[in-house]
Amino acid sequence: MTTPEIIRAKRNGMTLPDDIIVRLLGEYTRGAVPDYQMAALLMAIYFKGMTTKELAVWTRAMLQSGDVFDLSSIPGAKVDKHSTGGVGDKISIPLAPLVAACGVRVPMISGRGLGHTGGTLDKLESIPGFRTDLAPARFIEGVEKIGACMIGQTETIVPADKKLYALRDVTGTVESVPLISASIMSKKLAEGISGLVLDVKVGSGAFMKTLENARELASTLVGIGQANGVRTLAFLTDMQQPIGGAVGNALEIAESIEVLKGKGPADTVELVRTLGGAMLFLGGVADDVETGKNLISKAIDDQSGLERFRAMVVFQGGDPKVIDDPGRLPTASNRLEIPANHSGTVVGVDSEAIGMAALVLGGGRSQKMDDIDPAVGLHVNARLGDKVGPSSPLVTLIFNDSKNLSRAKELIQSAFRIGDQDVVATPLILEVIGN
Ligand code: URA
Repeated sequence: MTTPEIIRAKRNGMTLPDDIIVRLLGEYTRGAVPDYQMAALLMAIYFKGMTTKELAVWTRAMLQSGDVFDLSSIPGAKVDKHSTGGVGDKISIPLAPLVAACGVRVPMISGRGLGHTGGTLDKLESIPGFRTDLAPARFIEGVEKIGACMIGQTETIVPADKKLYALRDVTGTVESVPLISASIMSKKLAEGISGLVLDVKVGSGAFMKTLENARELASTLVGIGQANGVRTLAFLTDMQQPIGGAVGNALEIAESIEVLKGKGPADTVELVRTLGGAMLFLGGVADDVETGKNLISKAIDDQSGLERFRAMVVFQGGDPKVIDDPGRLPTASNRLEIPANHSGTVVGVDSEAIGMAALVLGGGRSQKMDDIDPAVGLHVNARLGDKVGPSSPLVTLIFNDSKNLSRAKELIQSAFRIGDQDVVATPLILEVIGN
């Protein structure tokens, strides 16, 4: 089939043969298929979708466009977690060392923040000296010796995704469940893992605003994992309000350390226990998720997770003294409490607006190349169902530069809906999909 024939076939809703997908993605990565033809195919996929089989082949072809970590020399299961991104989502940071302390290795390749959601790499790099750009051999050594290692995407891992994502960004084809799923899963499968836990966030601060859309994404992701021999379990979790209190890079590291010390916020601890329990189940260390959750609680109580985090920080060049003295993390000079403008109950929270407030203060990026200030962000003091009034601070803004302070204040004021009705608590874990 020629490239125009492939585009026409997909436009007409046909299933593309395996060898055609593999050849096309190989040629596109090498530059032998131009962007305009790939753009037309992406748009056809946007409208016509892909079968489970087609998508598994497409994802595998993306994965094979670059380097794949070979962790076969390291005995035992290797399990990672991926989140579709939320506001205040620092879960990976306490999770990886806790799971490692329980005997399952965690090779984790994470991303940077963009828009209202933060990124694990930016958070980790707020620890003075912490390196996320380790060479592949050093990453493998970290997974083997420490049990958990957290690095960033490299130029040679799934280069097809870099090209395709940039093209999707400018051709209106980002919002396609099969294309999003292939993009996420190709990068995860490149880690050389045997199991994967997915946290698909649902709600105001999430990529997927409705349960129905989140369910479709979760089952597509699980289908790709399973078709590629990776045990995959997806949790749909509530993102109607930020996770924990801290939003901002160094602030989230400090809160992650609190979790590891057994003093973390209840929702954050519950997510860590659930996702960690699932990782231990997929890694064969626990018979079920519930047993895994109890093992994670034990690793919090006996501080073995905290000690594993210390070892990881040392291995990756960071200053371990921040663990005993979080005051050594970057700190901002100004704080401003934003009170509720009238009394009532918090009946709605727009997490996206809260994430944007942290961004405009300098804690996030609007564009990939933007610099961030690791010290800035905010602390969310009011949660859904809380009674608030003019004397209760909804949020404490933490900042160095007051240039966008009034915008941040507006965003916070608009983020909280205060009413007089009762709030029915939504469970944190909404659904589980997969094996
Ligand atoms: N995250 C990814 O890695 N890829 C997408 O396409 C969307 C979100």
